[in-house]
Amino acid sequence: MTPDTSIYIHIPFCKHRCAYCDFNTYANQEDSIPAYVNALINEIEFIGKQSPQPINIHTVFFGGGTPSLLSAHQFDSVMRALRAAFIFSPTAEISTEANPGTVTLENLRGLREAGINRISYGVQSANMEELRMLERAHNFFDVIEAVTNSRKAGFDNLNLDLIYGLPEQTLQTWKTTLARIVELNPEHISAYALTLEHGTPFGRWSAKGLLPIPDPDLAADMYEYAEEFLASKGYMHYEISNWAKNKDEGKRMKDEFKNTSSLIPHPSSFACRHNLQYWHSLPYLAFGAGAHGYANGYRYSNVLRIKTYIERLSTFQPSTFNDFPLSPATVNQHKQSVEDDISDYMINNLRLIEAGISDSDFKSRFGRGLRDVFPQEVEELIRDGLLECKTSEVLKTSEVYRLTKRGRLLGNQVFVRFV
Ligand code: SF4
Repeated sequence: MTPDTSIYIHIPFCKHRCAYCDFNTYANQEDSIPAYVNALINEIEFIGKQSPQPINIHTVFFGGGTPSLLSAHQFDSVMRALRAAFIFSPTAEISTEANPGTVTLENLRGLREAGINRISYGVQSANMEELRMLERAHNFFDVIEAVTNSRKAGFDNLNLDLIYGLPEQTLQTWKTTLARIVELNPEHISAYALTLEHGTPFGRWSAKGLLPIPDPDLAADMYEYAEEFLASKGYMHYEISNWAKNKDEGKRMKDEFKNTSSLIPHPSSFACRHNLQYWHSLPYLAFGAGAHGYANGYRYSNVLRIKTYIERLSTFQPSTFNDFPLSPATVNQHKQSVEDDISDYMINNLRLIEAGISDSDFKSRFGRGLRDVFPQEVEELIRDGLLECKTSEVLKTSEVYRLTKRGRLLGNQVFVRFV
């Protein structure tokens, strides 16, 4: 049986390009949004026709960039094209990223009507100085307003994204940010450490010594504080950088997770089902400029530039492209070997704090046990206290491998052993 599939849609428009950002996004090109939406619809229709069998969709994610620069009508057009091309689960999770300050109550109501049922806001910090330093256009009042209006519009599944380890950030400002975020009562919180990417102004300023480099020890203290604080507020730490609430407030989420399969998010948790698709190395289709996908044995990605993407989707000969899920916009494609799939599986699944890697799932995918494939690596990582092996609480006969607390702080040292 084909596993349920996910869809990622990239919206590469931003009002301003923030100095730390290396995403595929462009400022001052909003005039191209109508043509871009048409190109997206063309790509969706094309892939829908190319698929060798009907495809069941259980999550969609509009990421960016700033998807909230699209109107509710434009979201609706894309959603209609998706529903016409694929079979949607009635309980599909349909998320969009949005920037606080770019949404109104009316616009949010329109998104809800278009079928969007989860919003992920790029908050980053509650501290004005830190937001200014990141060159973000919003302030914390915009965040409060966006959350309040989202609730009024009927959204009961919100994520707030944060960044820590910022230059000159203190443990105290981070604590204040977390406290303010929790007061807003989001269902889900993501917290990622700042990375200084090459090719960004932050990367260049840092290389020239113009930007104080974030202290890794302080960033580790911030991460550990987030783990303790969010747990005390009822958020389950289910992935290295992600926390979610339980839908049943009366019950501790940790207990809920214990009673579920390691592969399926418990229906009572607000864990992001779309991202779990990535972390479980399950298939997702990609639409839009620079979007990356994984399906039918391919990892593939689309052309980066907006103009080229629009051109490719308006002037193609359908007969020239027939290998699903590649489209006229695809510029990179790689047929995965078993070894590629195993490496990706390890790196993705180890990010899951509770679920980790189930040996029975590994065997069902690859025909061998984890220790048969990586005997030395697993033994050494366990010896070094970076990995732990427990008997599965669901499948009593199977083992589950997880990062230890120390392993979570030194994740890259673990992942590199499986590449
Ligand atoms: S708003 Fe987000 S996607 Fe756009 S430039 Fe800033 S960080 Fe990047």
